[in-house]
Amino acid sequence: MSGITGAAYPPSLSAAETEHLVNTIKDWSSAHGLVVRPPPTVIAASADPKAIAAVPAPVTLFPSPFPRQCFAQALGVQTTYNELYAAVSRNEEFIEDTVKQVIEGDEFIKNLWAIHQKVKAEGYTQSLSLGIFRSDYMVHQDDTTSSPTFQAKQVEFNTIAASFGGLSYYTSRLHKYLSTREYPLLGNAIPTDMMELPGNDSIPGLAAGIETAFYAYPASELGHTNCILFLVQDGERNVFDQRHLEYRLAETVPQVPLFRLNVSVIRTQTSLADTPRRQLLYHPPQCPGKTYEVAVVYLRGMYDPSDYPDQDAWDARHHIERSAAIKCPTVLTQLAGTKKVQQVLATPQPASEPSVLGRFVKAAAPDQVAELAKTFTNIYPMDTSPAGLEARKKALDPTLAEAYVLKPQREGGGNNVYRGAIPAYLRSIPKAHWSSYILMELITPPPVSNLILRNGSVEQGGVICELGIYGTCLWDQKTDEIYHNELAGYLLRTKGDKSEEGGVAAGFGCMDSCRLV
Ligand code: ADP
Ligand code: MG
Ligand code: MG
Repeated sequence: MSGITGAAYPPSLSAAETEHLVNTIKDWSSAHGLVVRPPPTVIAASADPKAIAAVPAPVTLFPSPFPRQCFAQALGVQTTYNELYAAVSRNEEFIEDTVKQVIEGDEFIKNLWAIHQKVKAEGYTQSLSLGIFRSDYMVHQDDTTSSPTFQAKQVEFNTIAASFGGLSYYTSRLHKYLSTREYPLLGNAIPTDMMELPGNDSIPGLAAGIETAFYAYPASELGHTNCILFLVQDGERNVFDQRHLEYRLAETVPQVPLFRLNVSVIRTQTSLADTPRRQLLYHPPQCPGKTYEVAVVYLRGMYDPSDYPDQDAWDARHHIERSAAIKCPTVLTQLAGTKKVQQVLATPQPASEPSVLGRFVKAAAPDQVAELAKTFTNIYPMDTSPAGLEARKKALDPTLAEAYVLKPQREGGGNNVYRGAIPAYLRSIPKAHWSSYILMELITPPPVSNLILRNGSVEQGGVICELGIYGTCLWDQKTDEIYHNELAGYLLRTKGDKSEEGGVAAGFGCMDSCRLV
């Protein structure tokens, strides 16, 4: 038995069985919206010049085995994590302190911080804040005990544009369908009772967070109808993932208008009311003369420097931030999600000093703080503190660097530097910028094998799984009050074990679900 896979899992398939499973998945995925838009290069080369096509999202043929204690562990800490990040967002001094440690080499973070300061100077007019969070984990195998134990170790915590809740809901259902209709028919049949597939309520969970925030916003004093606004990126391929949340809201709150707005037209299609509250007003071009008041603005973009090609884009973010709409997230919450904050939270304090975590998770008993701490892995600053200098030494040594990943303050995949590439990368950038990074120990999950269906072809081999747990939280920045704090389902993303990055959107990873073992 290798790692956590079990000898006969996934079962070996005949060519006819593989073809049959592929056809079954292709149809199920299209029928249920487990799809993405094809890349622009594919559209350009195809007979689909108007880009109407959608293609099945890459997905595993079988749900990957995942240790049940790690799954339970990750679910068990989510609402404490929600509380922690709500508290971090409220603690401006703490965020300022971490931001100051990275801004010398990071113009992007500097600009975000500047927006917060500008809005703070004139006064925020909305104290409610919505978090749609996703805490990501990999399984760590502890070989130091007599029988190996598994622990969920946090890769990162996402506070902006945490995606795939729409598609992960359907991936769980696809694997459930296959486990009842197809796997029992295979030559190497998998009995249904071997397939313990946990439920996944990501779509209703995430939509409930948005709905709660909508109802926390008062009726329009200006006589408009309140609406929900999704801010989305130009050329977004993962649009159906977002649409699933929208369609859920269309069922639960059909009377609430919901619009999608491209980040590049924020300034032309929205305005701020000339009132002390600065309500965000949306003027849909398809409804001339009509104005809606935006109660909740959900950002599925604006997390990456490429979302800010010019000053207009930064002005647009400032415009959103100073409005009365409930933001998901605010600039402060976005900044709370930086890798630098994660590093500071994960750094153990000397016994003589109060725990950083304890400062934030105040409602929690010490054992909840201890449970959070169990999910941490070693993360080091890259600054000139004694710990930072020690980390720099490791990062510059080609042998020692093999155990680490170097991360800048970025989101969305494709920004990290791995292992042996770290020393040369560091030497290629100004030394004054090194403090803008953190150095994190690589988590090496036990080997798992699976088959990945991508663009109609099946790849088989060793895979690495990353579990994401969604949480939603609505809190008041001023009063510390938390109005809503919920778990909201999960995501399992899987990549080939030769790939370093795992983002599905970035093209290296695929959708998966958990088979608890
Ligand atoms: P991003 O915000 O860009 O998604 P992540 O911190 O999630 O940044 O890193 C991107 C990917 O890199 C992860 O999905 C994972 O595959 C890999 N990765 C990041 N940190 C680690 C780690 N400590 N151990 C192993 N893999 C990691
Ligand atoms: Mg991230
Ligand atoms: Mg990530």
